[in-house]
Amino acid sequence: MNDLPDCVKRLQKVIQFRTVSKSLRFETGENHGLDCLELPETMRKMHSYIKSEFPSVFSSEKTNVELINDGSFLIHVKVANNFQQSIDQQQNQLPFLLVAHMDVVPTKDDEWKHPPFDGVIEDGFLYGRGSLDDKSAVMAILEALSSLMIDESLACTRDFYIALTHDEEVKGSFGAQQVAPRLAEILDGKELEFILDEGLIVLEDFRPGFPPAAMVGICEKGHLDMKLTVKTHGGHSSIPPSETAVTKLCDALSKLNAYKFPVYLYNTPMHQTLLALSPHFPAVQRSMIKSINTTDYVLKKIISRDPITSTLMQTTKVTTLISGGTAANVIPSECWAVVNCRLHPNDTSDSVMEMTRSVVGPDVTVDVVDKCDPPKCSSTDTPAYSSLVNAIKATFANCDPQPIVAPGLLTGQTDSRHFKHLAQNIYRFNPFWLKRADIERIHGHDERIAISNYEQQIEFFKLFLRDAAFSQSFP
Ligand SMILES: [Zn+2]
Repeated sequence: MNDLPDCVKRLQKVIQFRTVSKSLRFETGENHGLDCLELPETMRKMHSYIKSEFPSVFSSEKTNVELINDGSFLIHVKVANNFQQSIDQQQNQLPFLLVAHMDVVPTKDDEWKHPPFDGVIEDGFLYGRGSLDDKSAVMAILEALSSLMIDESLACTRDFYIALTHDEEVKGSFGAQQVAPRLAEILDGKELEFILDEGLIVLEDFRPGFPPAAMVGICEKGHLDMKLTVKTHGGHSSIPPSETAVTKLCDALSKLNAYKFPVYLYNTPMHQTLLALSPHFPAVQRSMIKSINTTDYVLKKIISRDPITSTLMQTTKVTTLISGGTAANVIPSECWAVVNCRLHPNDTSDSVMEMTRSVVGPDVTVDVVDKCDPPKCSSTDTPAYSSLVNAIKATFANCDPQPIVAPGLLTGQTDSRHFKHLAQNIYRFNPFWLKRADIERIHGHDERIAISNYEQQIEFFKLFLRDAAFSQSFP
């Protein structure tokens, strides 16, 4: 145990803070939008720990650190004084932002092989909630930054920011959503060049016969919670009418379930994924991908066969809450259900509401409970994307086979959405090297990271930050 690298010991320690975010939304059947962190005191203890472990970041005149809303850190790493004077044009380089979150989702402790907040190490893996999502990123960024900052041969060539947030797992209302206006205020009208947040990963068994795929999220889906309500006359159950609020709602939900929202491929992130991967497909598929504007229909059919890739081409919907009735012998006068949609970047909450209304008909009222439209897709033709690709390739240079890097769409959402008005380009990636079967660990049980992979994660951030913001210092 004692021969563990210090960086691993620190991640192990951070996992032991039970910083669980728990959503109270809908728990009472009401939408009062109340989200809360289970133990804010624990989050404060984690703050103290990381501040004491990284004095070069938290107690340095080279940075400004602000605690926002008593939970999230906004760290401003400032361009080195001597650099500012020596190269004027560097002042025109826009700052960028890295984002990671310190909270985690709840656990069902009895399903875990090892207690989820102990940080047990077994067979080269560190087990614990947050070992992947997203405490390893928080710590890897701090490890990388700290080592670059104490290296006297290096100077910071541009301003950049790091947001370490505290309630991403419950939509970020108190964390990222409060950090964003403060950052906008600091930027004072200036834009960010790009944002890098958590998101996609390196998938080892991406497809049979394929090398591992390092997918960089260039877009993420939006979301929409719609409430479908039916109101009719209630009454006594002994004289039932042919239709009730219950039957009408069930009818509407099954119509909606059978309906398929439009499928998109041409000019979408999925299109870009296929183009990047096309050299590894057999010749016939490769030529279909090349002429996707004409083979669109066939390819959509093929890709839709896999339920996972199918979700990357369309808006999905699923009923998650349903309610109606107060007694066994009373016909309810009102029934409602909540349908959770994940919006494809080609759709909007308005367009999906409109399609839903036309499917369920005029007897059903459709209201928005909560929504966030998808952001626009980021470009891969930027210096930041090239830096990411280079850092990924260098991090995994010794792996055989080496991963191919491809842009992709994230089906979940990240804190980066709260900053989308501040940057043209947002990338979502963490260099986790996982197999398909490992993915369910992320919000499930036995979440773990290979120690060697954690070291690669630190290396990745070091390479990326070094390229994006550090250079040899001048005497
Ligand atoms: Zn996360």
